[in-house]
Amino acid sequence: MFFSKSLRFNTNTAWSNTSRAFFYLSRASKFNFTNSTFFPLFSFLLNFGLMKETVVSGIRSTGKLHLGNYYGAVKNFIKMQEEYNCYFFIADWHSLTTHPTPENLHGNIKNVLVDYLACGLNPEESTIYVQSDVPEIIELYLYLNMNAYLGELERATSFKDKVRGNPDNVNAGLLTYPVLMAADILIHKATKVPVGKDQEQHLEMARTFGNRFNRLYNQEYFPEPYAFSYTEKLVKVPGLDGKGKMGKSEGDANCIYLSDTPEAIRKKVSRAVTDSGPSEENQEKPEAIQNLFDLMKIVSPADTLNHFDDLYNKMAIRYGDFKKQLAEDMIIATDPVRERINDIVNDNDYLQKVARLGAEKARESAQKTIKEVRQLIGFKSF
Ligand code: AMP
Repeated sequence: MFFSKSLRFNTNTAWSNTSRAFFYLSRASKFNFTNSTFFPLFSFLLNFGLMKETVVSGIRSTGKLHLGNYYGAVKNFIKMQEEYNCYFFIADWHSLTTHPTPENLHGNIKNVLVDYLACGLNPEESTIYVQSDVPEIIELYLYLNMNAYLGELERATSFKDKVRGNPDNVNAGLLTYPVLMAADILIHKATKVPVGKDQEQHLEMARTFGNRFNRLYNQEYFPEPYAFSYTEKLVKVPGLDGKGKMGKSEGDANCIYLSDTPEAIRKKVSRAVTDSGPSEENQEKPEAIQNLFDLMKIVSPADTLNHFDDLYNKMAIRYGDFKKQLAEDMIIATDPVRERINDIVNDNDYLQKVARLGAEKARESAQKTIKEVRQLIGFKSF
C-alpha cells in the first residue's frame, strides 16, 4: 500500500489517536511506567491493547535504498505502522564512520527520506526523523559508552568484517557503532526492532547495554529490544556478485536500488555471477546460483521459481532466460516505488515538513528519556 502525497499529513491528526495519547500520557506523566513499581500496569496496558508497543529502526544514509534494505527492513516498517508506535530514522551519524564529504552528506540523507516515503512510510502514522536532529541520542550514547567494554565491542562480527574489509579506517566510531545503535533504540524504550539478519548481534548488545544500565542504577528502566520480522526467519537478501549479502559497501553492481531504472536493472542482472551450469541432475546449487534463486524467491511468483528450479534440476536451465525473468520481476516489484520517488524527489517543501514534524515528535520522546536517565545517574541541577 503506497502512501499518496495528496494525503498531506496534518499535525493534529498525527496526535489525535487514542493509543498514541496513552503512549504520550505515559511518557509525559511523572510516573515511569517501566520501572519496577509500574511495570505491572505497563504490561497490563500493553496486553490489553491500550498502549502500543514501541518500534525503532533506521537505515544509514550511505546511499540509496536497495532490495536488501527493502525486504530486510522497510517492508516490515510499513506493515508495523498501524499496529505499533513507530520511530523510523535516517542514521546519518552512523554514516560518518565512512567519512562522507560535506557535499554528499545532505544528499544522502535526502535519498533515504525520499526512499522511505516512496516505499510507503507514512508521516501521519510513524515518527520519521533524521538521527542528527535528535541530540539526546548522543547524550545517551555517551552514558552507555561508559559501560561498554573494549573486548565485547571488538568481538562484534560486523566490526571484525569492517576491519578486514578496510584496515586503514578502523576508527572509534566503528568500534562503538553498536553502542550508538543501542542509544537509538533505548532512547525511545523500544521493544521491537525490525532489522535484517545482519543486525541480530547488535541487538543482543543493545539488550546487554540496557540491562547493564538497569543493574547499575538498580531500576528496571530500559525494556529489552528484540529483532522483529513478520517472517519466521530474518531475511537475508543476497547480492549479485555471487557471494554474501546485498550491500552498498559491496559496490553498485552488487545492488539493485529501488530507484534503478528498468534498463539499469536488466544490465546489472545480466552481469550477475553464474557458472557453466549443472553437471548432474538434482545437484546442490553453488552459492552464486543459489543466491539468484533466493532473489527470485523474493521477487517472483512461486510458480516462476518452481519452473526454473525444475529446469535446473533437469540440467535444462538457460541462465540467460533465468536472468531475464529475474530482472523483469525485479522491475515489476520496484515499479511503484520508482514512480513515487520521481514524484516527490523535487518537492523540498514536503520533505522539509516531514523532517521537521518527525524531529519534533522524536525529540519529545527522547527528552523525556534523557531527563529520567539523568535523574537515575544522579545528575542534579543547582
Ligand atoms: P544498512 O544499509 O546497513 O544501514 O541497513 C539498514 C537495514 O537494512 C538493516 O535493518 C539491515 O538489516 C537491512 N539490510 C541491509 N542489507 C540487507 C540485506 N542484504 N538483506 C537483508 N537485510 C538487509
